Amino acid sequence: MSGPVIPQADPARRLNRFRPHVEAAMRGVLASGRLLLGPETEVFEAEFATQLGVGHVVAVSSGADALTLALVAGGAVAGDEVIVPSLTAVPTAGAVRQAGCVPRFVDIDPVTRNIDPACIAAAITPRTTALVPVHLHGFPAAMSEILALARRHNLLVIEDCAQAHDADIAGKKLGGFGHAAAFSFYPTKNLGAMGDAGAVATNDPAIAARVRRLRSQGFDADGSVAEIGGTRRMDEVQAAILRVLLPHLPQATAERRRLAEQYRAALAGLPVGLPPRDSGAVYHQFAVLVEDRDRVRAAMARDGVLTGIHYTPGIHRQPAYAAPGIHLPATDHACARLLSLPIQPEVAEGHVPLITETLARSLGS
Ligand SMILES: *Cc1c(COP(=O)(O)O)cnc(C)c1O
Repeated sequence: MSGPVIPQADPARRLNRFRPHVEAAMRGVLASGRLLLGPETEVFEAEFATQLGVGHVVAVSSGADALTLALVAGGAVAGDEVIVPSLTAVPTAGAVRQAGCVPRFVDIDPVTRNIDPACIAAAITPRTTALVPVHLHGFPAAMSEILALARRHNLLVIEDCAQAHDADIAGKKLGGFGHAAAFSFYPTKNLGAMGDAGAVATNDPAIAARVRRLRSQGFDADGSVAEIGGTRRMDEVQAAILRVLLPHLPQATAERRRLAEQYRAALAGLPVGLPPRDSGAVYHQFAVLVEDRDRVRAAMARDGVLTGIHYTPGIHRQPAYAAPGIHLPATDHACARLLSLPIQPEVAEGHVPLITETLARSLGS
C-alpha cells in the first residue's frame, strides 16, 4: 500500500473544521462556571426543537439513554414487549432492556433495509406495548404504515433517530412522527458532540416533563422528588459544542447527499446493491451490498480505503440477545453483504473516484 489512508469516518476532523468556534464554546462554559443544566443546555434544547419542528427537546447523556427514558416516560413498564429491527446498532436493543422491557426482533424490507411493517404486524402479541422504528443509515422508516399499525394496536412509537438528524418525509423532519424520538450525538453521528450525548424529542409535554425528571434523579422544578430517576444529563460543554455545529447541519446534509449522488453515478454498472433512492435520506452511511464482503473489505483496506460494517450480525444473533427459533432471512442476507463506504464530508470529499475505483478493483481481484 502507498499513499494516504482514507478512514471510514473521523469525527475529530469535523470538530477541527470548526475548531476556533468549538474552543470558544468550551472556554465560555469554563468562564461561566455552570457545568450542568445551565444556559447552553437550555438554549440547545430550544434550538434543536426549532430545527426539528417539535414542541420539546430534552438533552440527555446518550442516544441509548434517550431511548430508554423515552420508553419509560411514554409508559412502557417492565416485562412489556417492544418491537425493534435486528439490523440496527446494539444500543437500540440495549435501551429496551435498560427500560426493563423485552426486545422482539423483526425482519427488514430488503429494499429499504428498514423494519418491514408486514413483519411488525405478525410480531404483535397481547404483551406488546411499544415499537421502536430505526431510521437506519439515515433513511426514513415507513412511518405512515407504522403509525397506522400502532394506532390500531394502541402501541407507543419511539423513533430511533440516532442516524437521522435532519432527515425528513415530505418536508417534515424525522423525530416528529412518533410519540417521542431519541437522538444520539455520539461523535460520528451526522450531528456529533465531543463525547457522549443524546436527546429526546417529543410533542407531548407530559413525556418531556417526565424525561426531565428521570434524567436528573427524579427532581421536579420545585425540588421535590416525585419518582426515582437516574443521572443521565447532557453536560454544558457538549451542549455548547452542539450549538456550534447545529447551524451547519443543513449544509452537512447537502454535502452528504451530493457525495451519495457521486457514488451512485460512479457505481452504476458495478455488481453492488445500492441504497434506495429517498430524497429525505441524510446518508449517515452510504452502504452497498457486495458478495464476498469480507474479502472485498480487506482488499480495499490494503489499498488504503477503510470501510465499515453496519451491522453484522443482526442483534438476534448476538449471544446476549440470542432469540432461539427466530428466523430473519432478509436481515441475515443484508448483514452478510453490507459495506459502508466513507461518506463523512471531511473524509470523503474529493475522494469518491478513488474510493469507487478501489472498490471496483477489489471486486475483481
Ligand atoms: C448510535 C446509535 C444509538 C445509540 O447512541 P449512543 O449515543 O451511542 O448511546 C442508538 N441507535 C442507533 C441506530 C445508533 O446508531
